[in-house]
Amino acid sequence: MWHKGWRQEVWKELNCQWDIIVIGGGITGAGVFRRAVAEGYKTLLVEATDFAFGTSSRSSKLVHGGFRYLRNKQFDVTRESVREREWMLKEAKNLVTPLGFIMPYKDNRKTKNMFGVGVIMYDLLAPKWKHSHLSQKKVVKMCPQIESPDLKGAFLYYDAEMDDARLVQHIIREAVAAGGTALNYCKVEKLLRGQDGIVCGVVVNDLGASAQGELEVKASVVINATGPWSDDIRKEVNAPARLRRLRGSHLIFPHERMPLPHAVTLLNPRDNRAMFAIPWEGTTMIGTTDLDHQLPLAKGEPFATQAEIDYILDAGNAVFPSAHLKQDDVISSFSGLRPVINTGASDPGKESRAHLVWEEEGLITVTGGKLTTFRIMAEEALQKAASRLPHPPNLGERKRYFNPLPSFQAGGRVLASEFNYLLGRYGSETDDLLNAAGDDENQPIGNLPNLWSEIRWAARSGGVEHLDDLLLRRVRIGMLLPDGASSEMDRVRSIAQPELGWSDAQWKQEVKRYREIYEKSYSPAPKGFAE
Ligand code: FAD
Repeated sequence: MWHKGWRQEVWKELNCQWDIIVIGGGITGAGVFRRAVAEGYKTLLVEATDFAFGTSSRSSKLVHGGFRYLRNKQFDVTRESVREREWMLKEAKNLVTPLGFIMPYKDNRKTKNMFGVGVIMYDLLAPKWKHSHLSQKKVVKMCPQIESPDLKGAFLYYDAEMDDARLVQHIIREAVAAGGTALNYCKVEKLLRGQDGIVCGVVVNDLGASAQGELEVKASVVINATGPWSDDIRKEVNAPARLRRLRGSHLIFPHERMPLPHAVTLLNPRDNRAMFAIPWEGTTMIGTTDLDHQLPLAKGEPFATQAEIDYILDAGNAVFPSAHLKQDDVISSFSGLRPVINTGASDPGKESRAHLVWEEEGLITVTGGKLTTFRIMAEEALQKAASRLPHPPNLGERKRYFNPLPSFQAGGRVLASEFNYLLGRYGSETDDLLNAAGDDENQPIGNLPNLWSEIRWAARSGGVEHLDDLLLRRVRIGMLLPDGASSEMDRVRSIAQPELGWSDAQWKQEVKRYREIYEKSYSPAPKGFAE
């Protein structure tokens, strides 16, 4: 789709009147973009860094109702979310997949009753009846790592998981295929105002390798979907800050250290906070923390602090006592910032995860919420924009956000499981991806579900500007393999460098940039940046 030279072509097309400009290429922007294109609006999405660079590549990867929101009595958020989960399981097949959760309890009847009522409420809200109770013997058989003298039993309930960055890319690519225009490394520097003072466009700056400078771009409606950056854009309309940025970090472990059949809910022994151990993309991930993020965004990507790493290890060792998890076991870490509406709650965990859409001098901001509720957020944002659009959106009609899976077959090129994996992520592009593969490239990368042919496909047509786009967000081996996939770098180079048309000097420079990002924000002991 995004072949060589695509950025220059898109740049030339920007100078026209758009119906909608969406600022931000995370899940919120992607959802608005997808629906706006489906409604027939001439729509442009601009992303300052890479698609899914922000929180939308750093989540817990769950499409879920948020069991713990029940604890906070946020019933509306849970109901809305479990229903969206059911929708995505049907429409985004193979990309969003069911995931069981084992919720062990250790002590008395009270905890058992509380969890028991919780799983019933959870299933009633969906509505779907899938939970069960597991005896102590059964849970240990299913997941021996949980064994401990005080374990009494567990409940098993179901949510879903996905690859967040791939979900975002998939939605954006399908919207582009349907007629939308999207550009990464294109930052909104300023908002334009009409004579009436209403926002009527943006000034964009090309931050890509081709760096074509700044350009004024006009639109009937500008939608601010910049997540944790939302207040920065709102400064342009002199609006006071509304957001609280809450940092959440995760650690990724090798599957062999904790081969889990399902996700496991953990209560951190320090403060009884709910956390998860999640089997994900051939690894096991544990998180998350929930803390106020005090550092300015302009300083660099968020990272897990040593205190957070210790906190996560404590939680893991409390629930998996025989695993003896250490920092040395960690493959990588990552950290993201939740954009939540600030109500000043003393405990960050008590801030509502509900979303909000509002308008200030013509600028529509949509933020808060969750990845799981992106469709609802998208439709509310378009509803808010309705009066300034050439025709009202037909939001009463259900429209697809994910195209149906194509009907072609694996044809012996890959295993059935690999084919399904690819179909979910690449949809109608799967056939081309498999056909583009060089010798032995339709083969897994190590023990991961990823294939080498994905590297070629992403480098050829995935809108990659930098090596970190390729290794951290397109094919996520930079997080899934030790030391940022350093052992596979020669093969990555042999595939990606010619596809991207990089000289040897550019390759070196890209590796340097990637290693710096990895060491600062993704390594098992991230260095962060000096304050
Ligand atoms: P982002 O993904 O941050 O996207 C905003 C984008 O705007 C960024 O890519 C940024 O580069 C771009 N941008 C900023 N400024 C500009 C500019 N000037 N010009 C152009 N572009 C700009 N939700 C779930 O449903 N399930 C989960 O399991 C889950 N787990 C989570 C775990 C953690 C630790 C965190 C922090 C959040 C989690 N969430 C989860 C919430 C969810 O991830 C977020 O609500 C969601 O990703 C926010 O998406 P967004 O598009 O609004 O923001």
